[in-house]
Amino acid sequence: MRKKYAAGNWKMNKTFNEGQILFSEVTNMVKDELVNPNVKVVMAVPAPYLSSFSKLINTDKVSIAAQNCHPKESGAYTGEVSVGMLKSVGVEYVIIGHSERREYFGETDEFIAAKVDALLAGGLTPIFCCGETLAQREAGIHFDFVKGQFTNALFHLDADALQKVVIAYEPIWAIGTGVTASSEQAQEMHKVLRDHLASKYGQEVADNISILYGGSVGAGNAKELFAMPDVDGGLVGGASLKSRDFTEIAKSFPA
Ligand code: PEP
Repeated sequence: MRKKYAAGNWKMNKTFNEGQILFSEVTNMVKDELVNPNVKVVMAVPAPYLSSFSKLINTDKVSIAAQNCHPKESGAYTGEVSVGMLKSVGVEYVIIGHSERREYFGETDEFIAAKVDALLAGGLTPIFCCGETLAQREAGIHFDFVKGQFTNALFHLDADALQKVVIAYEPIWAIGTGVTASSEQAQEMHKVLRDHLASKYGQEVADNISILYGGSVGAGNAKELFAMPDVDGGLVGGASLKSRDFTEIAKSFPA
């Protein structure tokens, strides 16, 4: 059975002290309350906090993630953080290809593909984000656009490597807007993407890959979304900043 995820993306929020409280609260609640052994809780915190917060983890139900990395091993890349650096402070997962990085920092599929390679070479798990704009959906090109993002950034991998990637489908029109995709819209896209993976790698490989949904997931809609057969959890922004809400999201998977 493929792994289920509640992954929180804090983005550029919380001071160190606020973050420490939030991180500890989630870790403790998850340790005490999360009973589904197939669910992993991941928190992607701001880079300066990674080293310290990784030491607060007191259960293997929780892992810490970075929100970005640079594909090069080291060198003159001022302000950037390498995979090796992240690994050395206990990071296990790294979000890449988030629409905010694509839009505000001009990240291309090619650059994201290089990050995928660097992460897999370093033994860390990429959480690869993809998703269409509202205009693309309204023009009816959303399936082809997101399939193209896969093809460009992932299809150079062999099957073993691909199965180490976690996917997050995040329609841009649903991120931070309070407008969530319906569970049917999420399921429809996830199925299209799984079929796209199956067309290149075969059904067995495609069935092993966790595909998360992201876009205004909250404690009130997670159950319905996570009940969909191809939705393997959520990448959660705003609601991951509230410990009780995020823990409830992690507890929203069907038994
Ligand atoms: C995100 O940024 O990955 C995200 C899904 O944000 P939100 O849950 O706030 O829409």
